Amino acid sequence: MEQRLRNEAQTLLEQGKVDYIVGFEPGSLKFTTTPLITKDKSDTARLVINPFIVNNLANFLTELQGRVGIVAKGCDSRSIVSLIQDNKVAREDVVILGVPCPGIVDLSKVEKLVGKDRDELDSVTREGDKVVITTDGRTDEFPITEVLFDNCLGCELPTPQEYDILLGEPTSPVGESAVSKAKIDQLKGVSPQERWEFWKNEFSRCIRCYACRNVCPACFCRRCFVEESEPQWVLPTPLWQDNLIFQVTRNIHVAGRCTDCGECERACPVNIPLRSLTKEMYDIVGELFQFKSGMDKDAAPLMTHYEQEEAEEFIR
Ligand code: SF4
Ligand code: SF4
Ligand code: SF4
Repeated sequence: MEQRLRNEAQTLLEQGKVDYIVGFEPGSLKFTTTPLITKDKSDTARLVINPFIVNNLANFLTELQGRVGIVAKGCDSRSIVSLIQDNKVAREDVVILGVPCPGIVDLSKVEKLVGKDRDELDSVTREGDKVVITTDGRTDEFPITEVLFDNCLGCELPTPQEYDILLGEPTSPVGESAVSKAKIDQLKGVSPQERWEFWKNEFSRCIRCYACRNVCPACFCRRCFVEESEPQWVLPTPLWQDNLIFQVTRNIHVAGRCTDCGECERACPVNIPLRSLTKEMYDIVGELFQFKSGMDKDAAPLMTHYEQEEAEEFIR
């Protein structure tokens, strides 16, 4: 798949079909990748596909001018479709290099599993439904489901639905795992007061770095409401109350656009369980409106139309 990607990307640049290729190259740290954005066909030799291609690259599409060939996993391709629905990206300006995705490895889960820091690990490889971890000359095997990101354990569509070139055979979801929604179900099982205390504590730790917003393809406003000064919706100081308002508002803004790619939670430097909000909103959107984000590029975005049968009187 990796070699095919390199060949396809090189051909797209050589034939002038795209101005940029956006993919992944090896990161500077072990077991990491970093986005590669290039116009140079010789750079395509650095493209990689491996269990660590974590970023949702759709985020770059609203920044680049011209035609873009972009590597997209299942959730990323849905983010691209969602951007097309919102007229943020033109379909003809994107060549989607689809990656059937068997799930991305969460290194913090690997570290916990073997009780080692990532720098102490010699290798982490995927072999079918197992992960093989070598450290200090010792090799351990675990079910792959023990090390995938929670959102990958609940992934509905790992194979891109919208693509121009599919780089491998379609793959099936790993199967909805109880772990995928464990944090959310735990929160749902407590009283509203306990839940309030939980989020108060969590958002007291937020440093308002905006990493969660900046990595999110669904957060595409040129000027975010948190940066408005007239009116000033939230103070720049990271008080827990304002941090909570920021996240609640962000969640409403991405409702019907969020594809449960998990990037916001992964990017948070203080490990706030943001997916407990975004995945819950994703499910509520599904239940209330029978709508899944990024499924149909020709469908109207969820929040831009209404039906005569809407439950709420005010909208009719
Ligand atoms: S959510 Fe699905 S498509 Fe996205 S990275 Fe995880 S397994 Fe891959
Ligand atoms: S990434 Fe985490 S710390 Fe940064 S603004 Fe978002 S919730 Fe706060
Ligand atoms: S809100 Fe989070 S999970 Fe949803 S699309 Fe944005 S980054 Fe991905």
